[in-house]
Amino acid sequence: MEISILLRQHVGGPCKPIVEVGQEVKKGQLIAVPEGLGANIHASVYGRVVAINDAIVIELADEQPEEFVPIKETDSYIEAVKEAGIVGAGGAGFPAHVKFNTPVDGGYVLVNAAECEPVLKHNIRFMNENPEVLVQGLKYVMEMTKAAKGYICIKPKHKKTLITLGKVVKNEPNIEIKYLPDMYPAGDERVIIREILGVELEPGQLPSVANAVVSNVETLKNVALAIDERRPVITKDVTVGGRINGDVDGVTFMDVPVGMPVGHYIELAGGLAPNAGEIVIGGPFTGKHGEMDSPITKTTGGILVSIVFPNDNRKFGILQCECGAQSERLTEIVEAMGGTVVAAERCKRMVEVNGRYRCDKPGECPGQTEKVLALKKAGAQVIIAGSCQD
Ligand code: SF4
Repeated sequence: MEISILLRQHVGGPCKPIVEVGQEVKKGQLIAVPEGLGANIHASVYGRVVAINDAIVIELADEQPEEFVPIKETDSYIEAVKEAGIVGAGGAGFPAHVKFNTPVDGGYVLVNAAECEPVLKHNIRFMNENPEVLVQGLKYVMEMTKAAKGYICIKPKHKKTLITLGKVVKNEPNIEIKYLPDMYPAGDERVIIREILGVELEPGQLPSVANAVVSNVETLKNVALAIDERRPVITKDVTVGGRINGDVDGVTFMDVPVGMPVGHYIELAGGLAPNAGEIVIGGPFTGKHGEMDSPITKTTGGILVSIVFPNDNRKFGILQCECGAQSERLTEIVEAMGGTVVAAERCKRMVEVNGRYRCDKPGECPGQTEKVLALKKAGAQVIIAGSCQD
C-alpha cells in the first residue's frame, strides 16, 4: 500500500522535500520543510519513498510500530509548535506558530468548538474522550499569546460534551465554557468574536483587533501533543458520512495517518452505498470534489458521499455566500448535472475587501428575493445557492 503526503497542506507555498526516492523513512521523521510561509511535514508511517511529485509517496513497510521520531527539543512552546508542523486543523491551514506568535496581552484565546458543518462530529468525540488534552493545549496557547482568559465556545446542544468539559474546567480559574448560537456559520471567526466578546469586526479585520486569538479544537490537541509528547502532526481526526452502507449519520475515525486515501475510511465505514454519488472532502457547505484515492491532509475534516446528482439541463443561476460553496464549486455541480450557468449573484451582505468578497455580518442573513429576481431576469430557470439561509 502507498500513501501520498501532499507538499502543500497549508496556507503558503508547497514545502521542499528533504528526502529522496528510494529512501527509508520512519514515522515522525521530517520529510519536507517550508520555503517561506508554511509548516514542516513529517512522515506519518514507516516505509520507503517511491515517488516525489506534488506529494511524497511512501510505500508502507510491513511493520508499523507505534513509536515515532519525536520533534527536536526546543527552548519555547512556539518553537515546538513550529517544529511539529502544526497548522489550523479546521480551516485553510494557517501555520500555528505564526498565529500564536502574536501576543494578545490580557486578552482571549477562543476555542472554536462549534463543529459547525452538518454531519461532522470528530471534534465532539475528541472533547468527550480527551477533555483534559484540549484544556492543556488551551493553557499552552494562553501562555504563548499572554492571554488572560480562555473560552471554549460550543453549542449548548452538545450536553454530554458540556458536562465532560465542565468537570475539567471547574479547576481552571481562567478558563470558561461559553455558548454559541446553534446556527451556521457559528464557527466563523468573526461570529465567535461577535457572540462571545461582543466585538463586531469589519470584514477582513483579524481577531487581534479584538485582542483575541481563535483556535480550532484539533489544533489545540496538536499543540498539547507537540509539547507534552514531542509528537509532530502525523495524524488527523475525520468523519465519514453520507451515502455509506449502514450509517449515513457520520462515522468518526481518530488519529488516522496523514496521506492515507479517503477511500480506505469510506470502506471501513461501510463502503459506498448503491446510490452513492460524488465524494466530497470537507463539510457539506464548504467541501470540494474528491476521489477515493484523494489523500487525507492536516486539514481534512469530512469525507462525505453525496447522492447521485440529478440530470437537469436547465439554465442555472448561482447565488453565493461567503460561508458556503463559491462560484467555482457551484458551477462544477451545475455542470455535473448537465446544466448551464447563465448568471451569478452574491448575497447582498458580501463586500469586497482586498480583492476577496467577505460577509458583512455572518449569520445575520437577509432574504434573497432581490437576488433571486435578478437571476430570473438574467434567464435562470433554476437557482443553486451556496448561501446558508433563506
Ligand atoms: S449574510 Fe449572506 S454571506 Fe453572510 S453568512 Fe448570511 S447568507 Fe452568507
